[in-house]
Order: sequence, then structure tokens, then C-alpha cells
Amino acid sequence: MMHELENKSDPVQVHRESLIQLAKKYGTPLYVYDSYKIKKQYIKMKKAFSGIKNLIINYACKANTNLNILKLLQKLGSGLDTVSIQEVELGLKAGFHPKRIIFTPNCVSIQEIKEAVGFGVRINLDNLSILEQFGEYYPDYAIGIRINPHIMAGGNSKISVGHIDSKFGISYYQIPHMKRILKNTGLKIEGFHMHTGSDISEIKAFLAGAKVLFQTAIDFKNLDYIDFGSGFKVPYKKDDIQTDLNSLSSYLTKEFEIFCKNYGSQITLIFEPGKFIVSESGYFLVSVNVIKHTTSTVFAGVDSGFNHFLRPMFYDAYHCIENISNPNGRFRFYTVVGYICESDTFGFNRKVKEIREGDILCIKNAGAYCFSMSSNYNSRYRPSEVMIFKGKDFLIRKRETMQDLLRNIVDIQHII
Ligand SMILES: *Cc1c(COP(=O)(O)O)cnc(C)c1O
Repeated sequence: MMHELENKSDPVQVHRESLIQLAKKYGTPLYVYDSYKIKKQYIKMKKAFSGIKNLIINYACKANTNLNILKLLQKLGSGLDTVSIQEVELGLKAGFHPKRIIFTPNCVSIQEIKEAVGFGVRINLDNLSILEQFGEYYPDYAIGIRINPHIMAGGNSKISVGHIDSKFGISYYQIPHMKRILKNTGLKIEGFHMHTGSDISEIKAFLAGAKVLFQTAIDFKNLDYIDFGSGFKVPYKKDDIQTDLNSLSSYLTKEFEIFCKNYGSQITLIFEPGKFIVSESGYFLVSVNVIKHTTSTVFAGVDSGFNHFLRPMFYDAYHCIENISNPNGRFRFYTVVGYICESDTFGFNRKVKEIREGDILCIKNAGAYCFSMSSNYNSRYRPSEVMIFKGKDFLIRKRETMQDLLRNIVDIQHII
């Protein structure tokens, strides 16, 4: 089945000229997603772990929740990893069966978890207080448990979520307490889960976490799955390191096989990649408003900012910036900044083909955690999104308007 998908006549990549055309057609700022790349990444992961009999890939949709992207992944056979009840609802709207949706929240209320039960989705709990309450309400609703394996991993401290002082997961030192709660309430466990953070390039970190899950899971009967979360790193620049899927697979497949043998049944292995699936599919197109020289720097000021694209400012993330309007220009150095009234630097001191006012810049790896982290700061409209599907472009989200900014305002001007 995987090979069939690969042979369909999809464009191999999005070309510079077509991006220019899209910027003209839809205006900037504009997000463009190449559905073929999303498909390719999904298939790549399935293939890398094809040695595992029961493999499930749940797309972690907080990376990009456009309904059309969810639908695309649903059609490819993916499940969905969600972290809020709203993401659960979007998943259902995109056509995912409730049992193909896993709800993996952190610090949400018992009310929100009750709503998830109402939708019939799989639930993964990550603290003992809610576990105890859940067991009182729903002793027959089998759940997953997020274990904190106490591993320091991840690209930086904001996205490292599996260490001992992280707010995520139930410490594996607290398993005796967890067992007490299960006994007291009669609740059953259907799976164990971990997610140690994003941007993990160290396979050792995955394997150390996996070992903790295996050691934990072996004591529990009738498990359905073990979920190894995500953290798969993708390249953000040329020669960047990325998670070596094949070597991870060769180790993990072996370890998982041994576990299943010891455990006495072939349970399911789950991954929940977000960034890996969608990051490289995305291109963010902006127009250059102003070229500004200071005593030290040449700034290229564009028609966007951290309201639309937060990762460089929030995580110090590096995103490649290309001047697609001037491919034959000579390289010069620029600091590319936004129009928000705060420092919002997309790229510091970058070598880019000569930039002129009016040029279109393309910011890469814009598929994951870009639109989904956007806001209306400075009362700007959020951009539109376009998906390229089988060689055609489709508007998949309209640009906002003043009406969107005012929609929820309750006007009490007459009494002010
Ligand atoms: C965010 C998240 C993911 C996805 O992480 P990526 O680094 O984007 O692959 C997976 N699982 C959970 C529980 C998450 O919160």
C-alpha cells in the first residue's frame, strides 16, 4: 500500500517560480504547504519502522491543525495525537474515528477529561490526582499513562519535557502509588506513553526512555500499546543533523521484539510525530517593505513578525531565508526583521541574495509550530494558508479581516 501512494503523480518539490506565483495570487504574508512532502514524510516513517508488526503513527496535530492537513493524514492511515479538547474536536471533524485519537493533555481539568470520555477517544493521563478522580468516575474506561522517564533530552530547555523536574508525566518512581490508585479504583491501563521533547538527535535518549517503559510495562497485564512519543528532529539548514530513523529503528525493533516475547503478546508500538511530518512541507512567504541601513546593519523589514511566525524569537530557532525574487542576485548580508513594535528578528546577519524593497522572501520549515502558534498581536490579521495538492493550489484558510478582530468584542461604548 505504501508503494502505491508513492507512485502517484505528485510534484516532487515546490519550485521558486510557483511560490512567486502563489504570493502574487494570494498576497503575502502567506503559508504554503506541499501535501506531497507531508505524505512522503509519513511514508518514510512507516517504512523505517516496517519491521514492527503493529505500528501506529499518530500525527501530533498541535504542529499544524488546519483541518485539511488533518484530513490528508487521516486518509493516509494516520491516527491523531491531541493535547486539548478542541484538538480532539477538530480531529473528529476531520473524520478520525474516536479510537484513532489519543488525548494526551497536561494540567487540564477533570471536566475537560470528562468531555474526552464523552467523545470516546483514548486518554492518556499524566498525574496521580486526576488518575484517582478518573478512576472514581470511570473505573471501566481503560486509559494510558504518561511516564516521566527522567531523561534530559531535547533541543533546548523550553522543549525538553522528560526530565525529573518537568511538569509532564508521572515519575516512574511513583509507580507504586499509581498501582495503589489502580487497585483502589479498579481502573485498567491500556498503554504506557512517554514524550521526552522535541529536536532529539540522540538515539541514546530514545532508547534510555524506551527501556524505562519496557521495565514499567512488563508488570501490567493486557496492554494494547506502548507509545514512544516523538522528538524526531528534521534538518533546518543544509547539513543539519536529523534523527537517524533507520538506526533508531534497527535498535528499537529488536528491543521491542524482545519485550513482546517476554510480555507474551504482540502489542502495538506508537509514535506521535508532529514536526517530522509537517515541518519541511511549509513555506512562509513575506514581502519586503523596507531596506534600512543603520551604523552596523542592513535590515530587511518584512510584512510579518512574531505574530505570524514565533519560532525564531521564542526558541532562537534557525529558519532558512531565501530571496526568491532575485535568484541571480549576488549574496549580501541582512538582518531580516518583522514589522511588530518589538524586536522580532527572523534571521540575524544572514547571507541572502541581494534584497530589494518589494522582493518576496521565503522562510523554510514553516509547516510545524508556525501558523499554529500565530496570534493577532499588534492587531494584525493572521495570514492565509494554501495547500498544494496533486500539483494544484488550494486556499485552505482565508486571511483574517477586521470582522475577525471584532467578532468577540462586546461593545459597551454607549456607557463609557
Ligand atoms: C508536541 C507533542 C508531540 C510532537 O512533538 P514533535 O517534536 O513535533 O514531533 C508528540 N507527543 C506529545 C504528547 C506532544 O505534546
